[in-house]
Amino acid sequence: MASTGTSSRKTLKSRAVLRDVEPGSSVECVHCGERVKFQAKVRHKQVICNVYVGGSWDRVEHYHDDCYEQAREPHGAVDMTPVPRTRQQKPSEKK
Ligand SMILES: [Zn+2]
Repeated sequence: MASTGTSSRKTLKSRAVLRDVEPGSSVECVHCGERVKFQAKVRHKQVICNVYVGGSWDRVEHYHDDCYEQAREPHGAVDMTPVPRTRQQKPSEKK
């Protein structure tokens, strides 16, 4: 089914997702340079961006939730879709 014009093709571009800060997290916010720290009492969120340069994956950037907004969403709007509960990993999926 060749549908022209629609995004049937995977577009490799930067995207941002909202995630909980994990315990033991040791990443730094790209915007403010501060550590994105896990605190049990404050359930911080972080924005994780998969950054694509020239159509291929380049790096991951982390932001504080607030900082991403302050940085004017450099990698697009944040995808708020929650992580699926069941993390089933298929054993060595090959093409
Ligand atoms: Zn920050």
